[in-house]
Amino acid sequence: MQKILVSRCLLGHPVRYDGGAHGPFDPLSLWQAQGRVVALCPEVAGGLSTPRPPAEIPGGQGAAVLDGQQPVLTVDGADVSAAFLAGAEQALALVRAHGIRIAVLKARSPSCGNRENYDGSFSGRKVAGEGVTAALLRRAGVRVFNEEELDAALQALAALDAETA
Ligand code: SF4
Repeated sequence: MQKILVSRCLLGHPVRYDGGAHGPFDPLSLWQAQGRVVALCPEVAGGLSTPRPPAEIPGGQGAAVLDGQQPVLTVDGADVSAAFLAGAEQALALVRAHGIRIAVLKARSPSCGNRENYDGSFSGRKVAGEGVTAALLRRAGVRVFNEEELDAALQALAALDAETA
């Protein structure tokens, strides 16, 4: 059975930087019941605590963090790149261990965002971009969706299931 990597905060786990969570979402609950979900919070897995200061990537490009061209900085100016990179590596390890080809990750997060991101000014301004984990998974060939794209994720999963049936 095809497994799916899912951001823990989308499963109701209170791991957001402010201690919050999201959900429940269909079909994430169904996928959990089916045993398909591999849950991860890259920031917590990378060693950060909850709650933690908000962090952004200057320019909003997780790929630039992977390439060592930009840091991830907290609102206080602390460089938390190492924790973000460690969390992304854990996500990649899970993807490899479970043969995962689809992820549903939280939109607009400096780790998990797949289409847009905050620009590093902590002003709420958004740019096209992605988080550090989303960028690493995309490079590894994983299709990354967010919680606003669950219909597309469902279709992608159905296509994979049909391929492997
Ligand atoms: Fe953790 Fe990603 Fe959710 Fe942030 S968006 S709390 S890194 S799972």
